[in-house]
Amino acid sequence: MIFDLVIQNGTVVTSAATFQADVGVRDGKIAAFGQSLEGERVLDATDMLVTPGAVDIHVHMQMSLGDGVVSADTFLTGTRAAAFGGTTAIVDFVEVEPQQSMIEALHARQAEADPQVVIDYALHMTLGPDEISKLDQLTAVAAAGITSYKLYMAYGFRLTDDQLYRALRAVRDVGGMPVIHAENWDIINALVADNLAAGRTSSHWHPRSRPALFEGEAAGRAIDIAAYVGTPLHIFHVSCREVVAKIAAARRQGLPITGETCPQYLNLTWEAYDAPGGRGAYAVCSPPIRDRSQQQALWQALARGELQVVTTDHCPFSAEDKARGRDDYSQIPGGVPSIEMRFASMYSGGVVTGRLTPNQWVDLCCTTPAKIANLAGKGDLIVGYDADIVIFDPGQKRILSPETLHENVSWTPYNGLEIQGWPKVTISRGEVIVHDGRFFGKPGRGQFIFRKV
Ligand SMILES: [Zn+2]
Repeated sequence: MIFDLVIQNGTVVTSAATFQADVGVRDGKIAAFGQSLEGERVLDATDMLVTPGAVDIHVHMQMSLGDGVVSADTFLTGTRAAAFGGTTAIVDFVEVEPQQSMIEALHARQAEADPQVVIDYALHMTLGPDEISKLDQLTAVAAAGITSYKLYMAYGFRLTDDQLYRALRAVRDVGGMPVIHAENWDIINALVADNLAAGRTSSHWHPRSRPALFEGEAAGRAIDIAAYVGTPLHIFHVSCREVVAKIAAARRQGLPITGETCPQYLNLTWEAYDAPGGRGAYAVCSPPIRDRSQQQALWQALARGELQVVTTDHCPFSAEDKARGRDDYSQIPGGVPSIEMRFASMYSGGVVTGRLTPNQWVDLCCTTPAKIANLAGKGDLIVGYDADIVIFDPGQKRILSPETLHENVSWTPYNGLEIQGWPKVTISRGEVIVHDGRFFGKPGRGQFIFRKV
């Protein structure tokens, strides 16, 4: 049998196993593992790792914050950067305008994404305070291919505890997966007000307005409400051991609670907020980046399986937009670009250092994210799955900079960070879309992933 594509002589790494095999691809699917497979096109992977395409279930492309501020990566530039970094599926968000139905908002978001995406994508439906009166629409949303729902405990989308309870109940009733931004918004607002009143206006005060204690408190409260309602819950962007402890305690009780952290919390420390020349604003994201001991606690939590996923919360803003908070750190649009470096940085910081096994690396970045977001046929190398595959060069070294990354911003918080390991080839449904630093994907070739409960 001749395959469309064969990846020869590589070391296949999945979440469960590591083995030497050729991989055969036919009709965009993984068709076989074996020795000396023959293909119309053959890629040599000698000395390379062959992994599933990475899956990032938390990204914000062209997200509008109002007032003309929009996150800098479009669905085209953001998914292209993702592909360069070995990511072959993302989950972004739908936000509903007050006058819109959830389905109208979903279709509008798909219309933005569809002509641009170069890899496959799904969408979380955001349930803000205005959606509490629209929860009867969730059956229609589920029928339109959405199985996950974003809840916020901060910002304008913030749900109060009673709203959280109602939203979680409605998500449970359609068999959905709720994902949550857990922080204590009332305490944050009080601390910001105190700081500004005292003339403490620089980004140095950003992490000091969002204490780890209350991120833990908020996560624990959300977990308790989810447990009471009887629904699973996935905690977004965990920045501290206080949240890890709440997730670990819930899991010990057998509750279906999961958590993720992100490269910014694993590679940076809060000294980034003291960078001169306004560059402290670049690292502003929420929850904030914390101190070195918290960073080490997060690596330990990943190694022990107390956190299950690494995503990015990719949401960069232009340097001009970041400068809006020059005189008031609470006005800095929050978010950093990590979509391209995530997979390689987890190899470099996790596997090369001995903190993680190669199988844990694949599990955290590919397999478990796909399971939590219910992306059938993604995140693993199994016959019949989509041929989303990365040929990863474990020896390649590079130093990160805005010039070498492909995200649509003039800055990166990782400037100067040395990485060992980088994707050589990225394959999406059998099509080579990145090869040795060259991009071959067409805008719009990515597909909406229709999810079923
Ligand atoms: Zn986010």
